[in-house]
Amino acid sequence: MSGVWQLDQPVYDASHVPTIVVCCSDGRFIEATQDFLRSQGLGRHDLMAMPGGMAEALYEREVPGGALSGARATELLAHLHHTKKVILLAHADCGYYHQRLGASVPDVQKKDLSRAADWLTEHIPNVKVDAYYMRPAQEDEGAGFIVESV
Ligand SMILES: [Zn+2]
Repeated sequence: MSGVWQLDQPVYDASHVPTIVVCCSDGRFIEATQDFLRSQGLGRHDLMAMPGGMAEALYEREVPGGALSGARATELLAHLHHTKKVILLAHADCGYYHQRLGASVPDVQKKDLSRAADWLTEHIPNVKVDAYYMRPAQEDEGAGFIVESV
């Protein structure tokens, strides 16, 4: 499929936004993630979606070869866009954790979110970092997703 499409909405705004969201690229959680962010009053934001979200940044940043890891990419983006806030999201049953560590364990993921927040706070001047863990609601919790701050 090829062609040219013009979108009238939203209207392009050339100003940068002060918030970066770093989340997993898992499509099972993307819509819920966007809904959650809107529920928190967040509009436009920079988005770094990669397998494992910030976990990729933690575990792969020392990989030899000079690739721009998620951590360095977030740091670069924050510098370019004068970022004031970074929002980290991790989720249940994350394929990155299954592949990298053999299991997606909430406590491990929450600890990693805290480690990532510390790393970002250390490397990005004057940034505030919020971290959240998302999981599908259990049967007795109703429908949808549960998001808890970490
Ligand atoms: Zn994931």
